[in-house]
Amino acid sequence: PNRYLSSLPTTVFTVMSQLAFKHDAINLGQGFPDTEGPADIIAVAAEALKDNRNQYAPLTGLPELREAVAASNQRFYGLEIDPATEVVVTSGATEALAACLMAVVEAGDEVVLIEPLYDTYLPMLKLIGAVPKCVRLQPPHWDLPEKELRAAFGPKTKAMILNSPMNPAGKVFSRAELDLIAELVRDHDAYVVCDEVYEHLTFHVKHIPLMTLPDMRERCMRIGSAGKSFSLTGWKVGYVTASAALASVIAKAHQVMVFATAPNLQRAVAHGLNKDDEYYQGLSADLELRRDLLRNGLNRLGFETLPADGSYFIVADITGHAQGRTDVEFAKWLVEQAGVATIPVSAFYDPGGPAAPQNLIRFAFCKKPEILEEALCRLEKAL
Ligand code: PMP
Ligand code: GLN
Repeated sequence: PNRYLSSLPTTVFTVMSQLAFKHDAINLGQGFPDTEGPADIIAVAAEALKDNRNQYAPLTGLPELREAVAASNQRFYGLEIDPATEVVVTSGATEALAACLMAVVEAGDEVVLIEPLYDTYLPMLKLIGAVPKCVRLQPPHWDLPEKELRAAFGPKTKAMILNSPMNPAGKVFSRAELDLIAELVRDHDAYVVCDEVYEHLTFHVKHIPLMTLPDMRERCMRIGSAGKSFSLTGWKVGYVTASAALASVIAKAHQVMVFATAPNLQRAVAHGLNKDDEYYQGLSADLELRRDLLRNGLNRLGFETLPADGSYFIVADITGHAQGRTDVEFAKWLVEQAGVATIPVSAFYDPGGPAAPQNLIRFAFCKKPEILEEALCRLEKAL
């Protein structure tokens, strides 16, 4: 079998969820909400199942979903998108990421990445044969180092992956940082895979798609996920917005990997995307309360927390409590002794790169307030 895949460890999210189950722990590791998404969206999916919506959908997605994606781009970001040629519906943002990378990157091409990074990026690039060039954000403020970013771009750069709002750092890239990225992308004639699955989960900080900056419209592939925007992570419905020239190639990658995504879910996601502004405001306001609850509790327990302006996640510095343990050891101890599962942040760094920080763990706060309270109580008892 393929040597790279054979040696690839099982994802840390599955490992930690299994440990959480084994120790009957509260799972603040894997990022999924512990409540269902909106009942009206689920009802549309259920209706569609009964309404003869059970054969292959069109390759690039149901027209009603492509139209809803285009309308959402217009409503939130003022982007003019042609639903017929500039939207591709995929089976989750994960498939969208693979399809976008396959669409523009070939063996030997360099791709710029920002660490800490989501765990599918590197394996996807390795399977394509691309060469990752990682730049590290600097804790404790998750600053983007300009010199290192400039140095990561070169004549072989083909693309960059930009995740904003970011998992696991909770960082939302500022306009000034995006301006710098846009300048480098333009100067190196590169593409950008914009992983914006947490686009609607920001806390009093505006999410700016890189695609809205000058000269970026034709270079960016903007990825969204119904899983995150509607708290339905198991549905695995994603969507890509890109120029017609790129979207037609992304559609070819989708054609050979998946071909078409479940039609009933697509119809329901179209309904979801058309929800009013109040829904989207409620989603982020509700999550912000949970972030504050967990952050304040962690601070009270003596953990310093890093800024988290978006996503499901907040990172805490374990230095005061770790007693020499690494993040991996501490996370294992927490799940076994405190009954709280988290994710060690070193898992979000290139294993082939320089040593990753070992003093940070990630908490998911997309859980019920009473569950977060209970997790804090358990931590207090164990520490
Ligand atoms: N990108 C990031 C940064 C994520 O956190 C996730 C969530 N798992 C994904 C992509 C994948 O999204 P989906 O579940 O829609 O495939
Ligand atoms: N995106 C989720 C997280 O970061 C998990 C996705 C997965 O389990 N593959 O926790």
